[in-house]
Amino acid sequence: MFRVLVTDDVDPEGLALLAAEPQLQVDEVPTLPKDELLARIGDYDAIVGRSATRISPEVLKAGTKLKVVGRAGVGVDNVAVDVATSLGIAVINAPAGNTVAVAELFFGAAIGLLRQIPRAQSVMENGRWDRNTFLGRELKGKTLGIVGLGRIGSEVATRAHAFGMTVVGYDPYIADERFIALRVRRAPSLDALLHETNILTVHVPLTDETKGMIGKRELARLPNRSVVVNMARGGIVDEAALLAALESEQLRGAALDVFDAEPLAADSPLRKAPNLLLTPHLGANTVEAQRNVSRDVCLAVRDALLRNDLSKSLNVAGGAVSELQGAMLVARRAAAVARAVLADQGMRAVRRVSLRVSPDIAHGTGALLASAAAGVLDGVIETDRLNLINARSLAEARGLEMSVGESSELAPRTVEVALAGGMQQLAVTGSAPDGSTPRLTQIGSFHIDVNPRHTLLILTNHDVPGVIGRVGTLLGERHVNIAEYHQARLAQGGDALAAVSVDGEVSEATRKALLDLPDVVTASVVHFRDEP
Ligand code: NAD
Repeated sequence: MFRVLVTDDVDPEGLALLAAEPQLQVDEVPTLPKDELLARIGDYDAIVGRSATRISPEVLKAGTKLKVVGRAGVGVDNVAVDVATSLGIAVINAPAGNTVAVAELFFGAAIGLLRQIPRAQSVMENGRWDRNTFLGRELKGKTLGIVGLGRIGSEVATRAHAFGMTVVGYDPYIADERFIALRVRRAPSLDALLHETNILTVHVPLTDETKGMIGKRELARLPNRSVVVNMARGGIVDEAALLAALESEQLRGAALDVFDAEPLAADSPLRKAPNLLLTPHLGANTVEAQRNVSRDVCLAVRDALLRNDLSKSLNVAGGAVSELQGAMLVARRAAAVARAVLADQGMRAVRRVSLRVSPDIAHGTGALLASAAAGVLDGVIETDRLNLINARSLAEARGLEMSVGESSELAPRTVEVALAGGMQQLAVTGSAPDGSTPRLTQIGSFHIDVNPRHTLLILTNHDVPGVIGRVGTLLGERHVNIAEYHQARLAQGGDALAAVSVDGEVSEATRKALLDLPDVVTASVVHFRDEP
């Protein structure tokens, strides 16, 4: 018999699935104060909740029988996932159930703005009847610009066609085939999309690349009197720039469901901005979405407890195949390096991921492919949703072809990850000998030997004297500490490649400064995002 504590008003449909199992005893309680939760958690094998209950390190440690934490929703910011992992507790979330809810809210907001529904309502409430000031606009014939064509972006695109809109999209990480299947015209750049967009909507995760991606400069590139919608994450659209564009009437209107700081401050100037439709992070707030996420998480918690099926867990997949962990790390990091180098060569839409593995680890091809897929997707898709189990299906849904083969030419415990797209291809190889640190051993034709940790800089340069010194000096001046510097060349005086492992971050400004050094040809920076 397993005991499951359910809190935070999780939708009853999922709970009924748990309660139907004779081997599960389900106790439903309102959101508990911290002390009470600490006192009770020791009796339970699983806890299922939403965001109101904080699953802190203290709670996890007090939960001596705890095997599973289930979160009915996407974000696991309220769960100390690293601590759960170290204690062997699976963390399970429900990433997909709210996609349609957000897509529908987008249309509600867009039409609300174009027809001025909220303002018309307040005029009616004030006892007036005013038809002339509310001359609206239609969606039909307008161009919708979607940034990020993942789950939600795709659902928005599908529905936009029904309204007779022209749909153009910008997502450099999605293959052409997906654009064609969704009947979305591919914009070659964000600027190109902005140039022709009447209604702009962002559906990207908040990453280093997307933070502030719609700022003053981008808003100025939209045709006059366009509409901007952010239902993704606060910070993707710059709030101050948006406010200024609304006040100057450059924009017709905007809708925000998410904010830099939530809850939005009572005195935020956004609350008084003209033609700004505000909702308090309601994207996923529908009965159906709550039911979907409740059902998804409860089924996954049931399977984890009763069938030892941890395939939906965010954190346990790696641990389940501990013997392969070094090789999996190599596969993930080799893929991340290949993706970053290819992206800097202008190839961002990876089409094919091909692995070759040494025979001694060929029994783990599934886990190795999943790791490589995760390396390709790290930093590109919503990270809460990426785990070693779902990485392959996420990659395949995005049009990536994945294959794996065994090769006796490779040294033991070695993985080669080749990424291809368009006319370009790059293979990165590494190995993880038993008991020693994983190393990357080859990038393209260059033989290297470097531990892929924290941040890796990949430089190509002309093989002339002085380059290493100049690179070292520049990094030193910028307080970037070099852990390892491995230089490789094909022939004296030809091309050379350096793999430089550094502690901490390397900023875009430093990368540009490296590119400005004499004889440096390319510079790529890979921050390993799955670093604990
Ligand atoms: P997803 O991971 O399925 O899709 C994200 C897409 O963004 C991917 O296709 C990716 O290729 C693309 N992308 C990443 N970086 C990009 C870049 N620099 N330029 C262009 N495209 C880029 O995610 P999703 O499920 O569609 O969610 C999208 C957003 O909506 C996320 O930020 C998520 O947190 C948010 N969300 C909000 C609510 C809400 O309540 N308002 C609810 C659910 C999700």
